[in-house]
Amino acid sequence: MGEFDLIARYFKRPTRRAALGIGDDCALLQPACGCQLAISSDMLVQGRHFFADVDPRTLGHKALAVNLSDLAACGAKPLAFTLALALPEVNEPWLAAFSEGLFALADAHGCELIGGDTTGGPLNICITVFGEVPVHQGQSLALLRSGAQVGDDLYVSGTIGDARLALDAMLGHLPLPLEVLATARVRLETPTPRVALGLALRGLATSAIDISDGLLGDLGHILERSGVGATVQADDAIESIAAYQDNTRGSNQFGTNLSKDQWRSLALAGGDDYELLFTAPVAQRAAIESAAQAAHTPVRRIGHIDAEPGLRVIDAQGQLLPNSYASFDHFA
Ligand code: ADP
Ligand code: MG
Repeated sequence: MGEFDLIARYFKRPTRRAALGIGDDCALLQPACGCQLAISSDMLVQGRHFFADVDPRTLGHKALAVNLSDLAACGAKPLAFTLALALPEVNEPWLAAFSEGLFALADAHGCELIGGDTTGGPLNICITVFGEVPVHQGQSLALLRSGAQVGDDLYVSGTIGDARLALDAMLGHLPLPLEVLATARVRLETPTPRVALGLALRGLATSAIDISDGLLGDLGHILERSGVGATVQADDAIESIAAYQDNTRGSNQFGTNLSKDQWRSLALAGGDDYELLFTAPVAQRAAIESAAQAAHTPVRRIGHIDAEPGLRVIDAQGQLLPNSYASFDHFA
């Protein structure tokens, strides 16, 4: 099968919202009048972002999910994406499953594949997404990292730490009962981009970021860009579905033999969660709660923004904890 047959069979579908889809030298995209385009790229590399034997259906999902998560963090509505794919061989069952996982998530968000590139080489998947953000009275409604204000509440959506828990277990770094691993693995392999929440937070949140490298590390980007500090209550941050499943949350020892400090570390530094971390004024608490409900996405308060620079992590009693929860850095 040649390159063009491959594209036609697995990636070309009838054009819907794009002015011009796959097949020409460029695709043409018409954003709604007065909207800004929000654009983001993410690359997934075998051996670094996924295991060689990962289910191609979940890989298709995740490749797009991590990109949609960036749109969510900006409060952008997904429109379209491009797919640059390096394949070591033409493996039709693999391509069929990959495109199925990819299009299932794309369709769920009305996000259309409008072009890309296909080449031979070590497996590598690079997606660029395009979303739109309205401009209101000359001002972009995009959520940025730079808007956090002193006194703001700090929130996180959903559950965190499970993706890293699964990864550590799969690498043999920690023991995990099989049923707990199965639950956590869903979070690692098929993360849920919080698109509806991002849209609902427009005009409410003062800053936002999606958690890809770990909560504290990604919070650091908000603090740096906003010129503020923050205090995070470590145990409020722990909200892991695996910890729930263990049903021993709150005790010192969890059924998986993880200590409280290990759970804190998973939650604060785990990464790969693709939840939203955001700030909002205290006066907006009720509005944030309504927005979260409308988006069918739980959110919880885990701290606040301070004038004092730096990041403080405290326990439930307000005692300062050593902030040694480093986040993931590809070149560290
Ligand atoms: P060009 O040589 O002009 O870059 P190509 O021959 O590489 O174009 O691709 C032909 C068409 O197929 C283009 O419209 C391109 O956007 C699209 N395309 C190539 N690879 C993919 C892919 N993996 N997914 C979706 N569209 C693709
Ligand atoms: Mg060309």
